[in-house]
Amino acid sequence: MEQTELIQIGGAGPAGLAAAITLARAGRRVLVHEAQSEVGHRFDGDFQGLENWSTQQDALELLREIGITTEFATSPCDRGYAFDARGERYEVAGSKTLFYMVERGPGPETLDTALLEQARGLGVEVRFNSRLDSLEGPGILAAGPRAADAIAVGYHFETAMEDGFWVILDDELAPQGYAYLLVMNGRGTVKSCMFSGFKQEHLYVQRTVVAFQRLVGLEMVNPRPHGGAGNFHIPARAVIGVHPVVGEEAGFQDFLWGFGMRYAILSGLLAARSLLEGKDYDLLWRRELWPPMWSSMVNRAIFAMLGNKGYRWILQKNRARSWDMHRVFHGLYQPWPIKRLLLPWARLRYRSQRRDESCDHVNCTCVWCRHGDHRIAGTEKACGS
Ligand SMILES: Cc1cc2nc3c(=O)[nH]c(=O)nc-3n(C[C@H](O)[C@H](O)[C@H](O)COP(=O)(O)OP(=O)(O)OC[C@H]3O[C@@H](n4cnc5c(N)ncnc54)[C@H](O)[C@@H]3O)c2cc1C
Repeated sequence: MEQTELIQIGGAGPAGLAAAITLARAGRRVLVHEAQSEVGHRFDGDFQGLENWSTQQDALELLREIGITTEFATSPCDRGYAFDARGERYEVAGSKTLFYMVERGPGPETLDTALLEQARGLGVEVRFNSRLDSLEGPGILAAGPRAADAIAVGYHFETAMEDGFWVILDDELAPQGYAYLLVMNGRGTVKSCMFSGFKQEHLYVQRTVVAFQRLVGLEMVNPRPHGGAGNFHIPARAVIGVHPVVGEEAGFQDFLWGFGMRYAILSGLLAARSLLEGKDYDLLWRRELWPPMWSSMVNRAIFAMLGNKGYRWILQKNRARSWDMHRVFHGLYQPWPIKRLLLPWARLRYRSQRRDESCDHVNCTCVWCRHGDHRIAGTEKACGS
């Protein structure tokens, strides 16, 4: 590839922008196409957790080390509360920050805006309202999720509540997933993150809100519905034609809980390096991303079998033994050889999650379904595409 040749990227999410930043830092000409009119459009002020447990190295330090900005607002979370289905409360605490709460969307201090500003500062052209439908010449595909393997649905709101995070493990609220509440600086998000039962998404959201009102006195001012989908998939190859595919477009995600931002950024970095150094992208992501991903797939298969009794049993163990949750989560994501033995079983369990991709709703606003010709909300893919 010529040094001066233009590199095009489809999608200005964390994956596409991390790739653009890495390429621009190496002096390449980069054009990012973004289908929406702004960055982070599908997140619209959402709060998310940048997980800090999968590596010993701190997540923000890691970003700085790989040349990605950390000039966005963060709230380090090392202590919060979990509830079981009976409403019993358990402290969840780590000796280190468990995750950094960050804001997503086009706002002033969000992760997306910080990445955009860094990219532009390095000379990257970001073209909004520009959908990339085909790609000639060198480039990277970074268009976000293709399917809904999990969904997170709920509300954004303003609140007088104190900052913090709360989780409920109850399949009646979030089947095979978790209900969560995040509050930062007078704003919050409450969601049911479910891995099955999508057809009852509205019911689960309603139950989630009621449960948080009862358990922690959730107060929502000006609640606005919000939801999105996640694509979880370990591809055989993450290259289409000659173009690396990054982030959730490739299926790179944390199968256990959906903490996909780190995968998005790291895969963007690796794809850029593969172009810069002429290396095989499939080799690079398999070395870096495959171990934690298959490990999280095994975690997911086990988690999906636990049910309410299993969740309660684990929470009680945590309380009895005063677990350091940072250590516990870190251990969960290590590809121990013994765990590797469970991978074939996990693959079988995970594969058959969703066969029926239609919903029963009229004029639906589902964040997941793939029927008819409407679009999957939160992604720009036409249903069935
Ligand atoms: C509700 C919700 C909560 C989440 N919470 C967390 C969390 O707490 N922690 C965490 O780590 N992860 C979380 N995730 C996952 C995380 O948001 C994603 O893994 C991450 O954003 C993926 O980044 P990406 O760049 O691959 O895709 P995206 O962020 O989806 O970006 C893709 C971009 O490509 C654009 N695009 C699409 N098609 C085209 C096209 N043809 N041409 C040009 N542009 C196109 C889209 O408009 C979009 O801007 C959550 C996801 C959801 C939905």
